[in-house]
Amino acid sequence: MLPIYDMYINGEWVKPSSGEYFESVYPATGKAWCKVARGNEEDVNKAVEAAYDALTNPEWANTTFTERGHLLRKLGDLLAENVDEIAELETKDNGKLMREMKGQISYMPQFFYYYAGLADKIQGETLPIDKQNMFVYTKKEPIGVVAAITPWNSPLYLTFIKLAPALVAGNTIVIKPSEYTSTSLLQFMNLVEEAGFPRGVVNVVTGYGHDVGQALTTHSKVRRIAFTGGSEAARHIIRNSAENFSRLSLELGGKSPNIVFDDANLHNALMGVIAGIFGATGQSCVAGSRLFLHEDIYDEFMGMLIERTRQIVVGDPMDPKTEIGPVATEQQLETIEKYVKIGLEEGAKLVIGGKRPEHMKEGWYYEPTIFEHDEHTGCLVTEEVFGPVLSVMKFSTEEEIVQLANSTDYGLAAGIWTENIGRAHRMVDQIRSGIVWVNTYRSISPMAAIGGSGLSGYGREGGLDSIEDYLEKKTVWINTSDEQMDDPFIMR
Ligand code: NDP
Repeated sequence: MLPIYDMYINGEWVKPSSGEYFESVYPATGKAWCKVARGNEEDVNKAVEAAYDALTNPEWANTTFTERGHLLRKLGDLLAENVDEIAELETKDNGKLMREMKGQISYMPQFFYYYAGLADKIQGETLPIDKQNMFVYTKKEPIGVVAAITPWNSPLYLTFIKLAPALVAGNTIVIKPSEYTSTSLLQFMNLVEEAGFPRGVVNVVTGYGHDVGQALTTHSKVRRIAFTGGSEAARHIIRNSAENFSRLSLELGGKSPNIVFDDANLHNALMGVIAGIFGATGQSCVAGSRLFLHEDIYDEFMGMLIERTRQIVVGDPMDPKTEIGPVATEQQLETIEKYVKIGLEEGAKLVIGGKRPEHMKEGWYYEPTIFEHDEHTGCLVTEEVFGPVLSVMKFSTEEEIVQLANSTDYGLAAGIWTENIGRAHRMVDQIRSGIVWVNTYRSISPMAAIGGSGLSGYGREGGLDSIEDYLEKKTVWINTSDEQMDDPFIMR
C-alpha cells in the first residue's frame, strides 16, 4: 500500500471531495511511491472561504506585526529541525540530488528569519501635505487571500519566497503545488500548525493546474496571485487574473547567457558554467543555457568543459557521489529529447551527450549534453529546454556579446566571467536581465530579489520590496480644523 497524502484546509487534513487520488512517481525509478489527493473546484472553494474567514478571525487579524514575526521565526526554527525528512520528500518527488535538497532546505529557514526581521519595520508615512489643516498619513494593510501556484523544480524554495512575505504582511494563503511535487509542502504543513498559525491562514489544495489551478486563479475572493512556472500556464493565469483584477507576479523561465571573457579565471568560470546548466539537471529557471566564449579562449575552455562533463556522475539522486540525477517527469524527458532531435535537424553540432545514459535502465535520466552553434539561431538557442542541454557560441567583442546576450525574448539571469572590473560594470549596465551574476552563478538569498522581464514574467520575489507586493497602502486624511465647511462643490 502506498502512503496517502491528504490536503490541508482550514487547519485540518481533509480528503478530496472527488474521493480521487493521483500517484506521485519517483523519477529515479519511474515507479509510483505515494498517492496524493486530487482536489477540485469544491475543495478550492472550501480553502478560499477558510482563508477569507481567517482574514477577519481575531486570532489572525489582531496579531501585531511583531507577533507575526515571532510566528515566522518559530516556523523557521521548526524547518531547521526537520531538514532531512523534508529534503528526502523533495528528492522522491522530483529526483533532485538529496545533497542539493538538503543544502537548499537547510538554507530555507533564512527566508523566514529575514521576513520575520522585517515584520516590525513595515510602516506608513506622514505626508508633508500642501493644504492647511490637514493631517495625512499612510498605513499598510494586507491585500487579502493570496493564491500561490508553484512548480516542481524547487517546490519549497519557490513556495517560501511567496509564503514568508505574504504572511508577515498579514495575508492568508491557498497554495497549489505542482501535481508532481506535493508531499514536501504537505509535510511542512505540520510545522505550520506546530508553529501556531491559526486555522485557515495557510491552506494547501493539491491537484492539477487545469482544475485546481484554474479554479483558484479565477476565484472572486482571491486578491493576489503569485505564480512560478512556464510561459504557457502563465498566459492562462494572466487571463484568469483579469476576472477579478487580482494583483499578479510571474516568475517564469529564461534562456540565460553565461559569458566567459578571455581575461576570466577559467577554472572558476568552468565551475559556474557547469553549475548553471547541469546543476539540478538543468531544470532551473535561471539555467545558464547559452554559453558565450571569447574566441581567444574558446578551444582551451571547450577542452576543459568537455573533459569535466565526461566525468560527471549520472545516477541515483540519493547517492552522495551523484552529480546529475534524473529529470523530474517523463514528460520533461520527452520534451528534452524533442528539442535535441529538432536541434540536430536544424544543424546544431553535438559535442557530447544527446541521449539517455545506457547505464541507467530505470527512471528518467538524460546525459549532460553540449551543442556548438555557428549562428545564434535554432530552437536550442532561442527556446527554454529545461534540461541538461548547453548551447555554446563564440564571440569576439563587447559590442557583439551585448547584442547576442540580449537576442532573446527572456530576461531573467546572466553570468559574466571576467577579471576586469570596468568590463564587468559595462556588461551589467548593458545586459537586459533581472539578475546579473559576476564571477558566480546560481547564488540566492532572501535579501536579493529574483524575477525578470519579457517572457521571464514580471514582478520580483525576495528582498525588501516583495513585502510591498503583499500590502495595500491606505491614505488617511484628517481635517484638523473646527471651521464650518461651506461650498461642497469644490475639491478640498
Ligand atoms: P507549468 O507552468 O505548467 O506548471 C507550473 C504550475 O502551474 C503547476 O502547479 C501547474 O499545475 C500550474 N498550472 C498549469 N496550468 C495552470 C492553469 N491553467 N491555471 C493555474 N495553474 C496552472 O509547468 P510544466 O510542469 O508544464 O512545465 C512546462 C515548462 O515550464 C517547463 O518545460 C519549463 O520550461 C517551464 N518551467 C519553469 C519553471 C520556473 O522555475 N520558472 C518551473 C517549472 C517549469 P500542474 O502541475 O497540475 O500542471
